[in-house]
Amino acid sequence: MALIVHKYGGTSMGSTERIRNVAKRVAKWARAGHQLVVVPSAMSGETNRLLGLAKELVPDTSNTDYFRELDALAATGEQASSALLAIALQAEGLASVSYAGWQVPIRTDSSFTKARIESIDDARVRADLASGKVVIITGFQGVDPEGHITTLGRGGSDTSAVAVAAAMKAAECLIYTDVDGVYTTDPRVVPEARRLHTVSFEEMLEMASLGSKVLQIRSVEFAGKYKVPLRVLSSFTPWDIDIHEEAKSGTLITFEEDEQMEQAIVSGIAFTRDEAKISIIGVPDKPGIAYKILGAVAQANIDVDMIIQNISKGGLTDFSFTVNRNDHARAMELLKNQVMPDLGSPEVIGDAKICKVSIVGIGMRSHVGVASRMFESLSEEGINIQMISTSEIKTSVVINEKYLELAVRALHKAFDLEKNQA
Ligand code: ADP
Ligand code: ASP
Ligand code: MG
Repeated sequence: MALIVHKYGGTSMGSTERIRNVAKRVAKWARAGHQLVVVPSAMSGETNRLLGLAKELVPDTSNTDYFRELDALAATGEQASSALLAIALQAEGLASVSYAGWQVPIRTDSSFTKARIESIDDARVRADLASGKVVIITGFQGVDPEGHITTLGRGGSDTSAVAVAAAMKAAECLIYTDVDGVYTTDPRVVPEARRLHTVSFEEMLEMASLGSKVLQIRSVEFAGKYKVPLRVLSSFTPWDIDIHEEAKSGTLITFEEDEQMEQAIVSGIAFTRDEAKISIIGVPDKPGIAYKILGAVAQANIDVDMIIQNISKGGLTDFSFTVNRNDHARAMELLKNQVMPDLGSPEVIGDAKICKVSIVGIGMRSHVGVASRMFESLSEEGINIQMISTSEIKTSVVINEKYLELAVRALHKAFDLEKNQA
């Protein structure tokens, strides 16, 4: 008998019929003798619907009181789906109870809309498990030190599940979703994408941070920190498939580098449309300029991703960086109104029509020429590279967003990631 955490995403919880199927699958695991903690997302579309209602009232603000209410609002989506799942389990003849984040409690900091989990008190959950209940814990939410409801950022139910698994030292955390594992790239963009049987923790961390939304990045961080056995698998297989077969399906996140020895140089391609570029043309090329620009941006709590500074001509240089698209307008306004007047008012150009495409692979550590193969493949497609950034196991480029699909498909082919190859 083992303690197992299941997480079901929005599509998997998308209708009462699907919730019934989830309940049947969970019941199968419980009847096999396991203790089950289940973390559901809101039904698909529900979080967007709720946040959309708030935006109808107030489209854009940086007011903390407003963000507090956004979290109180968005958290209801998971509360509803959790209670529905508990009801469906009871209908299957299993004792079951659902808890909101604050009832567990899952304690977080107070950063509304992107709170971090600080601790989880599992006493109540353990008592329920010991009395034979299946425990449902809402994904995506927690409670801050003042008792306010917080949420963990979009896609945060993955993080709730892995954090619960870590806190309770679960034998495994199974992330059930609408694809049957982690693929070489998003199978919705490249139908030839191949499922990976295993992916190393480091590669998964890069893929998640570079835009593969199959796992939220913080869930991967938690899995790495606490060595939580983590598997991504489909919730759309028949619920009654053999449990041993199911337990081996999908993609396992591994922590052993040795297992990766035989792997391809590039394991996957990630991409994101969530970024925007800001370029400042003709700033004085002297000490302190980067600090003046980026210090102001950081102070406004806006994260910067890639940064490029060109060589100077006549004492002036061009400076570009990317920010999350949601922060683009705010960053532009801040720079134009507060920072540029001090720097001789150089021109500030914003571009939200960009995307970032990245190749990821542990093998890049020990192979040269991988980045140049990437650039060659993009140039063959006539795609202009606007920015480049590299680390040990990834290379990212910023390109015009209209070339996103073309670039991802070309790179997928160039690095032999397609299925049915020898
Ligand atoms: P859930 O609601 O279950 O959390 P998400 O929509 O958040 O599901 O994540 C699953 C989706 O992630 C898939 O439907 C797929 O389109 C997308 N995705 C992006 N990159 C990958 C990848 N490398 N492998 C698998 N799925 C990916
Ligand atoms: N319901 C939340 C969202 O849509 C959390 C999640 O699904 O993981 O972002
Ligand atoms: Mg998700």
